[in-house]
Amino acid sequence: MTIRLGLVGLGKIARDQHLPAIEATEGAELVAVASRHAGLDNLPHFHDIDALLSSDVAIDAVTLCTPPQGRFAQARAALLAGKHLMLEKPPGMSVAEVDALGRLAKEKGLTIFTTWHSREAAGVEPARAFLAGKAIRSVRVEWKEDVRYWHPGQQWIWEPGGLGVFDPGINALSIVTRIMPEPMHLTEATLEFPENCASPIAADLTFSTDSGVPVTAEFDFRQTGPQTWDITVETDGGALKLSLGGSRLSIDGVERMAEEDREYRNLYARFVKLVTSGQSDLDPSPLVHVADAFLLGRRKITDPFYD
Ligand code: NAP
Repeated sequence: MTIRLGLVGLGKIARDQHLPAIEATEGAELVAVASRHAGLDNLPHFHDIDALLSSDVAIDAVTLCTPPQGRFAQARAALLAGKHLMLEKPPGMSVAEVDALGRLAKEKGLTIFTTWHSREAAGVEPARAFLAGKAIRSVRVEWKEDVRYWHPGQQWIWEPGGLGVFDPGINALSIVTRIMPEPMHLTEATLEFPENCASPIAADLTFSTDSGVPVTAEFDFRQTGPQTWDITVETDGGALKLSLGGSRLSIDGVERMAEEDREYRNLYARFVKLVTSGQSDLDPSPLVHVADAFLLGRRKITDPFYD
């Protein structure tokens, strides 16, 4: 069986990652696109998801690559129309939205897949295996990138629901929540908001695991020069470091893994498996930590941001 996919939101991530990944995935085929300002040659194109769903193009599933704002209505429309659903991260603007989609998918007997692409980076599963059974002393996350380079002109990031620096920061949290042998909860946070933006440009977070291991995270959107996407875990069996967003893994400074990027190809392969086996994969935990940061965070106002 080949899953006929409709892709919604033909923007940066759709073009950079989803299109080549779908092309490389056995068992999935892109059959239509819904995007207000963009289309693809030789493929049916619709202005929005409602036009796609009411057309005579037959699809089995929808992959949503739009910004989080507005995603809930699109996701709900897809599920109500009987389509399996794959969601870009973050899976919603709020935790309650994600819960609601999960309930609806279950009620309808459909697959919902809330993707966390960074969890598919090559070093993540080996890191999880290394940490299982180790005594962990501390975790330090540094996730600093240049917003002007990675998110040019993306005004939605600065609006309510756009997450600001948590748009990349949630990727780090998706890795930490996957590799750590026990859950954690936020204890303190400071969020820096540009005076003209509704979302933060930087964040300092402190978590504790259930057993009291300190976990700190620094997120910053103002990094120029070399970019930093590192997670360091000190354990009784050595220091584990995931760098370059999880694609490199080293233990005590010795590189153990460096592989080509397969994140989105893995996601689509997994989506095909979930749909064909009638299962879902919905894990809101990275978004829960971000929501907690907005709940607990001290707010600092900083310089205005202009793209
Ligand atoms: P983007 O370049 O702005 O593309 C999103 C597309 O969605 C737009 O081109 C737009 O196409 C459509 N859209 C529908 N409603 C919109 C609205 N209200 N505002 C703006 N665009 C709207 O964004 P992106 O970087 O691809 O990110 C999309 C999602 O993927 C986000 O949740 C992001 O976190 C995630 N993601 C991004 C990256 C990355 O490196 N950029 C990496 C991983 C995940 P039309 O105008 O044609 O409708």
